[in-house]
Amino acid sequence: MAVLEQLTSQQAIELENKYGAHNYHPLPVVLNRGEGVYVWDVEGKQYYDFLSAYSAVNQGHCHPKIVNAMTQQAKTLTLTSRAFYNDMLGKYEKYATELFGFDKLLPMNTGAEAVETALKLARKWAYEVKGIDENEAEIIVCENNFHGRTTTIISFSNDPVARENFGPYTKGFIKIEYDNLQALEEALKNNANIAAFLVEPIQGEAGVYVPSEEYLIAAKALCETYNVLFVADEVQTGIARTGRLLATCGNCSCENKNCSSTPDVKPDVLILGKALSGGAYPVSAVLANNDIMNVIQPGNHGSTFGGNPIAAAVAIAALEVIQEEQLAENAYVLGRLFRAELNKFIQTSNVVKLVRGKGLLNAIVINDDEKSNKAWDICLALRDNGLLAKPTHGNIIRFAPPLVMTEEQLLDCVSIISKTLQTFEN
Ligand SMILES: *Cc1c(COP(=O)(O)O)cnc(C)c1O
Repeated sequence: MAVLEQLTSQQAIELENKYGAHNYHPLPVVLNRGEGVYVWDVEGKQYYDFLSAYSAVNQGHCHPKIVNAMTQQAKTLTLTSRAFYNDMLGKYEKYATELFGFDKLLPMNTGAEAVETALKLARKWAYEVKGIDENEAEIIVCENNFHGRTTTIISFSNDPVARENFGPYTKGFIKIEYDNLQALEEALKNNANIAAFLVEPIQGEAGVYVPSEEYLIAAKALCETYNVLFVADEVQTGIARTGRLLATCGNCSCENKNCSSTPDVKPDVLILGKALSGGAYPVSAVLANNDIMNVIQPGNHGSTFGGNPIAAAVAIAALEVIQEEQLAENAYVLGRLFRAELNKFIQTSNVVKLVRGKGLLNAIVINDDEKSNKAWDICLALRDNGLLAKPTHGNIIRFAPPLVMTEEQLLDCVSIISKTLQTFEN
């Protein structure tokens, strides 16, 4: 078989099964093209993408502006390493720090790397600024968190599949219940060794759990009281996904008029990834002000590819698209419509218990136990009807289309989803 030969879906699946590690369980569909809200399989069938690569493709597939920035830069200069300066990184850092309202940015590639960076930053700050004794710093995290796949990050996961037989685990983490302020205060109260509280503004992987309205504001206030860094992992919730530039919209310069109606929280440390590149390239970042970021000195941390000129060019273009096409506003408006329409459906449904989410980060909970195959079977049927989504935990299906969707397309998707769910009613 020639490498460039066009494969059938079956052939492509067999190749991955035989030659690739089995670290994922993909929905059986083989894609080879994407544009905007659509993707196509190798047989030419068109689908709405309702996952957006876990919210990396917020700007839509193959956005021309992002692809153009990437290809232009790829022809000019791809990588210098940080041994030398390049003429793109500083421009990107200025643009992103001004947009999100922080003094400085530390560039990395993947979300997990950015989380690792934030953890190192928080520990170093704890020893050098807060004055915690060497090796005593602890970081508070939440149950059912998802922050990535490194050895340290899975050390504080409570997903057995992600953890089991990967020990020994990294120490220095305290786990509390999500959306529980009392638990946070308890953890902070009698412990002078806390460096940071690491939290997802909405727990995406866990099944799109939206905390109560006051949770993030009150958690931030508690962190201030106890001189602890509030670290927001916005790898999934950030970059317009939830109807605002950030789910914690502090003093960023997002121009969404809806922003003022929702509570503002400014994290001390902000973690971004996924849609920071519009899904074109791995780009992640940690942002913080000087009093925190300045603890990082030459040699403390780095990455060969972090801050490379392609990443910088792509990220600027990806962030400009968010602003120019007002994707936060669009996510806000379409998200409300989506939940309203699905709530109408749920009134008379036995299959779906509820819909929840913010902006265009939503999930439906299937009326069945965690272990049943129903959510998976629904996703197969959605695929057959031209819409791609994937179960998160057991009986929950996440719906996160690209934010460039139109109202007409969204209503078309609602109709596909309702019709598909109807076939599962009994
Ligand atoms: C996806 C994700 C990560 C990890 O990002 P990778 O690029 O897969 O390493 C971290 N945190 C959150 C909240 C995520 O959704």
